Amino acid sequence: MTKRISIIGSTGSIGTQALDIIRNRNSGKDSPDFEVVALSAGRNLERLIDQIKEFRPQYISILNKEDQDTIKELFPEINILKNIEEIAAISKIDIFLSAVVGITGLKANLIALQHAKRVAVANKETLVSAKHLVREYSQKYKSELIPVDSEHVAIHQCLSDHSQSEIHEILLTSSGGPFRTLDKEDLKNVTLQQALKHPKWSMGPKITIDSSTLMNKGLEVIEVNSLFDIDYDQIQVVIHPQSIVHSAVTFVDGNTIAQMSMPDMKVPIQYAIDYPKRYPIELEERFNIFSMGSLDFEFPDTNKFPALNLAYAAGRQGHSFPTALNSVNEAAVALFLEEKIQYLDIAKIIESELNQHKLIKDPCVNTILEIDKEIKERQYFQYK
Ligand code: MG
Repeated sequence: MTKRISIIGSTGSIGTQALDIIRNRNSGKDSPDFEVVALSAGRNLERLIDQIKEFRPQYISILNKEDQDTIKELFPEINILKNIEEIAAISKIDIFLSAVVGITGLKANLIALQHAKRVAVANKETLVSAKHLVREYSQKYKSELIPVDSEHVAIHQCLSDHSQSEIHEILLTSSGGPFRTLDKEDLKNVTLQQALKHPKWSMGPKITIDSSTLMNKGLEVIEVNSLFDIDYDQIQVVIHPQSIVHSAVTFVDGNTIAQMSMPDMKVPIQYAIDYPKRYPIELEERFNIFSMGSLDFEFPDTNKFPALNLAYAAGRQGHSFPTALNSVNEAAVALFLEEKIQYLDIAKIIESELNQHKLIKDPCVNTILEIDKEIKERQYFQYK
């Protein structure tokens, strides 16, 4: 049966790879596996136009008014919606793939949980900032929430149907990023170009910087807590430079189950779309155990990468702290991407913001967005 799918952030790294999967799966079939109902983009008009030509969605959204006008002229039959929230409110959707970056995805994800059968979330900032809301909506509207992040897809597979009480520990792996072998002193002089070169994964700029500071892993620790309701004491980050084991679960009976695959985002994206079924996939490189060599596992160096401990601390405090952590990190990374601050300033800015943050219990959507706005504006004007 053809599945109806909407993708927000369709021109980004996850969105384009999802459409590659859909193209391959639909090719040569009279009745396609997927119908692309809606696509949304931020600023990449050219790529969105190509995607519209190829996938013929009924609905699109794009940020700028001029871009909307261009699309209206080129494709008069298409429905142009105001924003990603309107895309999320389209009914009778089997899969809503949330592939936007940052807290901007929050409202749309919550709306999608009311309308789509499955919400596949690559947008980890929502899971970090609004754990209680995401859980509440998914239970209330009986929608399925499934991760797209490779580590969480690994954990999802290892956990299978086991309950929380059967879990001893989650081993959350990390490549260690491009600066794993540098001394702390050398990190002072790291440039933007160096930080944007990830050794194993090809991803968008924000997550690539997050990977280099280990904040990505910190956000993923909170994401584990948010998705699987696992206590922070039971989540151990493991540095695994080869990026073959994408995480593992140790159960109380002494069994550890690990998931392995090539470091290619198409694998977890397809899992999130197809679960619980499995279908053939086209990959640049297939998994070959004989060419793996040895696999290494190390403790993370939190002295060199303080962002990881900051994330654990914010996660443990809960309530509005993960929101504050996420917002100040987004702000600091944006400043670093604009080359307005040094690499080591990222963690310093995050720490100072968390030190002055006043906890707000169970923040609602508007409070979360207010906290976010306030932090980002303050940081921006401070370094402008
Ligand atoms: Mg990940």
